[in-house]
Amino acid sequence: MPPVTLYEGNTPLIPAPRLAAEIAPGAELHLKYEGLNPSGSFKDRGMTTAITQAVSEGARAVICASTGNTAASAAAYAARAGLKCAVLIPEGKVALGKLAGAIAYGADVIAIEGSFDDALRMVREIAETMPIALVNSVNPARLEGQKTAAWEITDHLGGVPDWLCLPVGNAGNITAYWIGFCQNGGPKMPRVLGAQAAGSAPIVMGHPIENPDTIATAIRIGNPARWKQAEEVLRASHGMILAVSDEEILEAQRLVATLEGVYCEPSSAAGLAGLRRAVREGTLDPNGLQIAAVLTGHGMKDPDTTIRWHRSEPPIASTTDALRQRLERK
Ligand SMILES: *Cc1c(COP(=O)(O)O)cnc(C)c1O
Repeated sequence: MPPVTLYEGNTPLIPAPRLAAEIAPGAELHLKYEGLNPSGSFKDRGMTTAITQAVSEGARAVICASTGNTAASAAAYAARAGLKCAVLIPEGKVALGKLAGAIAYGADVIAIEGSFDDALRMVREIAETMPIALVNSVNPARLEGQKTAAWEITDHLGGVPDWLCLPVGNAGNITAYWIGFCQNGGPKMPRVLGAQAAGSAPIVMGHPIENPDTIATAIRIGNPARWKQAEEVLRASHGMILAVSDEEILEAQRLVATLEGVYCEPSSAAGLAGLRRAVREGTLDPNGLQIAAVLTGHGMKDPDTTIRWHRSEPPIASTTDALRQRLERK
């Protein structure tokens, strides 16, 4: 059976010298720009495999819980395969570009009065009693697709980086990267720096978070499904996980966009925010290190947050004088 594909993956690994000078002096910093996948996030890497498997097993319909990107991705690949798709999202907590994607690809978008964690519990139960395939990252096929990003980084650099930095939500991606690096065969392995948002940092805190809260909605998760695996990755890689504030996340998003021309969504900048914090606090000495940061989703997924939180100015009069005044003020 041919795979259900939209030609995902093969995203660029972009050198970021100006950002490095600002947040990790002396490091060779690279950005894995996963926003360039077909539906705008890394979720597509795991959705090609999960949907292909669902089709091969005769599924007619798929379902997932989502903070937004999984919904858009599942909807796209289900459309491609001719499957029905239902997505559960937490009401009011999904970024505009993700919701628009899920609707555009024709999914049945079901908002719930609850969190992602509630939605995941619901779809896990339904998938056991109804003939509908679950395509969340609790599905092992998702990780098999997502691990390819680790291989691409290794191929591109000609070896593994010293550090890999990435945001952690449900902890599927950190688990998948580690599987990929392990299958490279070593002997060198990267150290892994995971970042959670301060308002939803269960792994950092050591207990589930009842009402997770953060502007970084893709990682607004209080009880990660792959919590144990994430801890294992952190232990095995001699890595670290830290909680970064919404302010630090937005600042990292702004820095990578303005210094490198690479626009990612807020959640995606959490790994960079974590790197910046670790360097400032002296727990990570960047000098001479090769560091890869995963930018998990495109900035255009969440235009609202950019417009609300970043600098914008009132309109000027439509005269050349007004324009001159304004340009000279800058
Ligand atoms: C899904 C997602 C994450 C978190 O990935 P997990 O596998 O849930 O840890 C981070 N950033 C973005 C943009 C995402 O869509």
